[in-house]
Amino acid sequence: MSDKPITVTSPLLPPLDEFVPYLQKIWDNKWLTNNGEMHQELEKQLAEYLGVEYISLFSNGTLALITALQALNVAGEVITTPYSFVATSHSIWWNKTTPVFVDVEPQFFNIDVSKIEAAITEKTTAIMPVHVYGNPCDVDAIQKIADKYHLKVIYDAAHAFGVRKEGNSILNYGDLSVLSFHATKVFSTIEGGAVICHSEEMKHHIDNLKNFGFRGETTVEEPGINAKLNEVQAAYGLLNLRYIDEAIAKRKKIVELYKILLRDVRGISFLPDQENVISNYAYFPIFVNEAEYGMSRDALYNKLREHNILGRRYFYPLISSFEPYRNYPSASVENLPVANKIAKQVICMPLYPELSVCEVEKIVGLL
Ligand SMILES: *Cc1c(COP(=O)(O)O)cnc(C)c1O
Repeated sequence: MSDKPITVTSPLLPPLDEFVPYLQKIWDNKWLTNNGEMHQELEKQLAEYLGVEYISLFSNGTLALITALQALNVAGEVITTPYSFVATSHSIWWNKTTPVFVDVEPQFFNIDVSKIEAAITEKTTAIMPVHVYGNPCDVDAIQKIADKYHLKVIYDAAHAFGVRKEGNSILNYGDLSVLSFHATKVFSTIEGGAVICHSEEMKHHIDNLKNFGFRGETTVEEPGINAKLNEVQAAYGLLNLRYIDEAIAKRKKIVELYKILLRDVRGISFLPDQENVISNYAYFPIFVNEAEYGMSRDALYNKLREHNILGRRYFYPLISSFEPYRNYPSASVENLPVANKIAKQVICMPLYPELSVCEVEKIVGLL
């Protein structure tokens, strides 16, 4: 085994020779963006694969989040969690609305539904929960609260590609769900993303918003943005989609191996499987209990780096401790005890389809 660095993830690259015919077709069509043939085909195939009705492709997940909030006229305050990638709160900020942080629950680190109501004010218009690591939030409880207070629900489902709960796509819950197809995600279009919605009318609205607000050739109905996915990236997605089941199956095997090998390591824990959920094995976070393990998370993280194993501390620092948000009243450590605790314990271990058994054994050996 070589000593080249083992990174936390490695992109799923389809065979290059299989990509060339797609490019040839784009060259023949001379249609490079603006809802071309590849774009339409990818929307169709993704809707089918994911088990959702309406999907709008985007140039990245962050613009998809920003546009999702725009499409629902969200204003005032939006309830969210600090245990996520920073784009979750940034998308709220870019809509000139205020993220209000609620703590996460201690099992899967998704929003703690028992703490949502206390964070609702008369300015609250929406909840943006995150399916962290692709593990579904308590979607039924969240919907109940949303209905009671007339709030919109937009899921940051960037991690949740292909995840199903009781046979139904997790993307079918809430008003809108947002995916990311960034190179580091389970399914990728290099950069890319999507909004999933539940009516044709909403899909049209979102499609217009991502294309400057144009409705037809000469009419602009609202101030939209440019967040379109181009044909080359859509083609890359179409090809990747043919390999996604195999990739997820390989991820599953690696996660299962990690879990068997790590079972008896004192002071290191990992997440249990969720009942009735089909996972996409997007991440393999471990949690270091310093007292039991005899070493702090950061000491372990650095030790692994010395051996060229580049885990990542997803999610540390918390969004609530970044400069733009740290002075928000809801960002205080007292308001967010679970998130603050877990952010100090987590390391996401290397996980990607091409990771070998031998590499997993080496990593666990070091742990
Ligand atoms: C990756 C990610 C995003 C942002 O997606 P991009 O496609 O990189 O813009 C948003 N939220 C979460 C939770 C993510 O992991």
